[in-house]
Amino acid sequence: MTPVPGVGTRPSPHSALGAHGSVLVINSGSSSLKYQLVNPVGGEAIASGLIERIGESDGVVRHTFAGNTTRRTGPIGDHGDALRTALDLFAEVGPDLAEAQVVAVGHRVVHGGSLFSAPAVVDDDVLRAIADLSPLAPLHNPANLRGIEVARTLLPDVPHVVVFDTAFFQTLPDAAATYALDRAVAEEHAIRRYGFHGTSHQYVSGKVARALGRRLDDLNQIVLHLGNGASASAVRGGVAVETSMGLTPLEGLVMGTRTGDIDPAVVFHLHRNAGMSVDEIDELLNRRSGLKGLSGENDFRELHRLIGEGDRDAQRALDVYVHRLRKYIGAYLAVLGRVDVISFTAGVGENDARVRELAVAGLEGLGIAIDPERNQGRKTEPTIISPAWTSTLVMVVPTDEELAIARQAVAAIGGGDGGQAAGDADDEYGGPAR
Ligand code: ADP
Repeated sequence: MTPVPGVGTRPSPHSALGAHGSVLVINSGSSSLKYQLVNPVGGEAIASGLIERIGESDGVVRHTFAGNTTRRTGPIGDHGDALRTALDLFAEVGPDLAEAQVVAVGHRVVHGGSLFSAPAVVDDDVLRAIADLSPLAPLHNPANLRGIEVARTLLPDVPHVVVFDTAFFQTLPDAAATYALDRAVAEEHAIRRYGFHGTSHQYVSGKVARALGRRLDDLNQIVLHLGNGASASAVRGGVAVETSMGLTPLEGLVMGTRTGDIDPAVVFHLHRNAGMSVDEIDELLNRRSGLKGLSGENDFRELHRLIGEGDRDAQRALDVYVHRLRKYIGAYLAVLGRVDVISFTAGVGENDARVRELAVAGLEGLGIAIDPERNQGRKTEPTIISPAWTSTLVMVVPTDEELAIARQAVAAIGGGDGGQAAGDADDEYGGPAR
């Protein structure tokens, strides 16, 4: 692979983060690669793209710049081909990466185990550590690694930074992180609760404080990240103290296709009585369960349409989803003792007023309520949706994981002041391990 010239030749991240410095954020999956070119100061996405069906003859590439999406189809052999295609599109339809002054490439990595509580600048040791953590995330970490390796080959003159989904939750108290499992077995196999979506929970809890003009240290928060994957967190003074996902992203809330919490004996039962293999059960619990398993649909827009038509399975799926969500809100009220803000984020949390309404319905006695008018519709800015009288604010706060990764990447290479110039605070920058 030939390196792309002109990228990363600027001497200092500080100087590059004037009007034009940018970060290329890469999220590499097993058969897909998402990217976004982000201005970490202004926060806007300059360009973005998605390459799907890597390794197949019918790959699809979409690259969006200046409001136009260019679509290409054809075979994409591997992740190297995929990124090369993306870089070709930057060269052909823009923006020009040399002009965009890319100061860092930020890579999303799913599992940092107990080794990473902050972003890390990529070197051989970091790559080895991510590979060593692969047993904890066998589908994700190897795919993330492939993306990093090809990006380093194609963009060798720019620092690469890894940002871990688990890092924010390394602060979980022992009592919250520990499964009541035989100690020796747990230790030998690194079995504990790690938590995921950390970049989003950290970004949103920081954004809440800034939107309210309050100190992050003073706020007790519950963050509800409700996308296709869904997780809840309890954040005390900016420090994560509980979260719903565990060793893997399967634990916790009901999700689009994942069960969330389930009696682990269901696995033994399916194996012994239905003759299912471990891989089959893994696939069932991760891909054919949740809303989809209950109703055939994992998109809330469809689910509401079906409910409107009287579909009882769809209604039951919504009921199960909301019941679990409310249990977690209640649990985190107990964990935190006092909750200042509950915020909703991600695809469902930002868009679905009905889910938000149901999640906190009937909690007036606890000082929690939603104002129906404020709650209406989709929110693209941090918005308070609770009435004035409540002791706990309920908010919708759009997440932006790419921007958070871009800013953490800049901070990791020593250029974190770029964001402060835009009025942002340190909390979005990852900073040192807490
Ligand atoms: P991912 O976990 O894949 O990043 P997102 O955060 O993008 O997921 O959330 C995707 C989900 O958001 C969809 O499956 C759908 O249920 C929900 N969603 C998106 N737009 C709307 C909308 N307008 N109304 C209700 N739900 C929506």
